[in-house]
Amino acid sequence: MTQVFNFSAGPAMLPREVMLQAQEEMLDWHGSGMSVMEMSHRGKEFMEIATTAEQDLRDLLSIPENYKVLFLQGGASSQFAMVPLNLINRTGKADYTRTGSWSKKAIAEAKRYGEVNVIADTYIDDKFTSQPQADELTVSADASYVHYTPNETIEGVEFSYIPDTGDVPLVADMSSTLLSRPIDVSRYGIIYAGAQKNIGPAGLTIVIIRDDLIGQAIDYTPAMFNYDTHRGAESMYNTPPTYAWYLAGLVFQWLQGKGGLAGMAEINQRKATALYRAIDDSGFYQNPVDHECRSWMNVPFTLNNPDLDAAFLEQAKQAGLVTLKGHRSVGGMRASIYNAMPQEGVDALIEFMADFARRNG
Ligand code: PMP
Repeated sequence: MTQVFNFSAGPAMLPREVMLQAQEEMLDWHGSGMSVMEMSHRGKEFMEIATTAEQDLRDLLSIPENYKVLFLQGGASSQFAMVPLNLINRTGKADYTRTGSWSKKAIAEAKRYGEVNVIADTYIDDKFTSQPQADELTVSADASYVHYTPNETIEGVEFSYIPDTGDVPLVADMSSTLLSRPIDVSRYGIIYAGAQKNIGPAGLTIVIIRDDLIGQAIDYTPAMFNYDTHRGAESMYNTPPTYAWYLAGLVFQWLQGKGGLAGMAEINQRKATALYRAIDDSGFYQNPVDHECRSWMNVPFTLNNPDLDAAFLEQAKQAGLVTLKGHRSVGGMRASIYNAMPQEGVDALIEFMADFARRNG
């Protein structure tokens, strides 16, 4: 069987142990004679899977009692609409930071539902390579909420701090950073993430929302886009993405075995530090992002000579290192090194990069 290290930004690698367990349980989950895929979402078996997964996620992130966890569909992109639909009604206005491609999309969507005030914009010289300084962020007095993107997956820019928004609820698109390290959930009004990076397969979207923010949606909000609908139905208003939910549950258990999120953070920081050092010391590769806000999860880099890009990608693939092509808007390469990317994968990439530089330098 061919095994590669897959540096895709998402859907991304899942832990090998989890995949093997899913394979083992594929046709017969715990003696039920059924695959999880075939179970009724309201049956006893699936209810057990669902509640265990939620409890494990709560334990991993120490989610306070007054937060609801929702297991939804529609991806983070649906949250770009759900957040304003549910939250902007209070004042009709919201603050957003603009730090990369994904926050741009969130802003464009929010503008359909109210007035968006961009309180920080780091677009300089056709690029996003920095974070706003904490003391530059001024929250509007009449903002219903503040939205930001802690990790910009395409540009590899990551906030090194949690913005202080006082009493104004802070909303975070954590698609590419949730579960990579411990976070203080109580600092947020809403945290949301598409699952296909650190959580599980595509099709599941996790929303962690403070209770008091539910129930204020604009009148015309579709039922499926109203957080209140999903709170009331325990994420079972309609058929949830059952298999993705189950697999996420296996990932949560795998994380517990890794020492929880503190253990994971140590591993992730080690991997990222090694890769950035290899880039910075090479004289052959470059990463344009300010050092203080370099992402632990998505590491974009360029070759000083872009004529070598195609050869780099082809030879990397032959060495079992795949999906390294950068996003078309940024160019060059991008190595996404989420939780499931083992240290050996990063070591293999670093070794390949050094070897390629030696042969072509
Ligand atoms: N936000 C961020 C930060 C992302 O990385 C992505 C996906 N790459 C999205 C939003 C969109 O997510 P989805 O495809 O689940 O809608």
